[in-house]
Amino acid sequence: MYADLHLHTNFSDGTFTPEELVEHGQRVGLEIMALTDHDTMDGCTRMAVACKKCGVEFIPGCEFSVEHDGNELHILGYYIDQNNPILCAELKKYQRVRLNRIHEMVEKLNENGMKIASEDVMKIVDFGSPGRPHIGRALVALGYCQSLDESFRKWLKKGKPAWMPKMKMTAVDAIELIHEVGGLAVIAHPGLYHRDEVIPPLVKAGLDGIECFYTRHSTSMTEHYLMIAEEYDLLVTGGSDCHGRNKGRPLIGSVKLPCDYVIKMKSAVAV
Ligand code: AMP
Ligand code: FE
Ligand code: FE
Ligand code: ZN
Repeated sequence: MYADLHLHTNFSDGTFTPEELVEHGQRVGLEIMALTDHDTMDGCTRMAVACKKCGVEFIPGCEFSVEHDGNELHILGYYIDQNNPILCAELKKYQRVRLNRIHEMVEKLNENGMKIASEDVMKIVDFGSPGRPHIGRALVALGYCQSLDESFRKWLKKGKPAWMPKMKMTAVDAIELIHEVGGLAVIAHPGLYHRDEVIPPLVKAGLDGIECFYTRHSTSMTEHYLMIAEEYDLLVTGGSDCHGRNKGRPLIGSVKLPCDYVIKMKSAVAV
């Protein structure tokens, strides 16, 4: 029995609807799926229904973009109640930040000679969590870039002409918020940061788990983070970070987390 605990839909920057995502998940033999859209849980209602229909166990989640010591990190929250008013207010704030940033980045592109309007981007945004991939897709649609990857390389990546910082909560605040609403806080894809020194202070702040199994983690990276999990007594999680067809082939199922790890998560939530 396998789980994929890191998935995106068109409620943030994935291309699949929740129903399509569940269909793909079933096809690759997943028995447990968690939805972790960026800064939104709005897709969880439909995802829960779709999972229930085909007997897949569903875990509601969210991937928070946060900052720690001036750098961006992603913290995954699991088993969160999406209707919690404290959480809803916080997430709404981040939707506004994301929308304002779209306007700012579009302005930067205009300054660089591209005729693009916020509407061109918002046409591509299905729901409330707009981000750089939507701008990239608009640039491709308008013929300014050949691919999403090129749009990031030339314009959208940190340090490139259209990049703008995004106001974020701190990692410690995110862990606190996740706990306040009864969830588990997990550091996402630690291998992508090349900064393991961020882990001990987050553990001190109450971090519950670490995403050891991840598409872009090598076998040695996974082993390394499994050791760190043991050292700090952290839960072990894993997922593909599937964004539908945004990054070529759908990644769902490319990471298969044995369900035993999920059982441990569940007993930690119940405590
Ligand atoms: P944002 O949240 O607006 O800062 O956008 C970050 C998102 O962009 C990440 O979650 C990735 O899904 C996506 N992303 C980052 N780099 C690339 C890339 N080279 N090609 C496609 N998507 C990317
Ligand atoms: Fe993303
Ligand atoms: Fe991430
Ligand atoms: Zn993700």
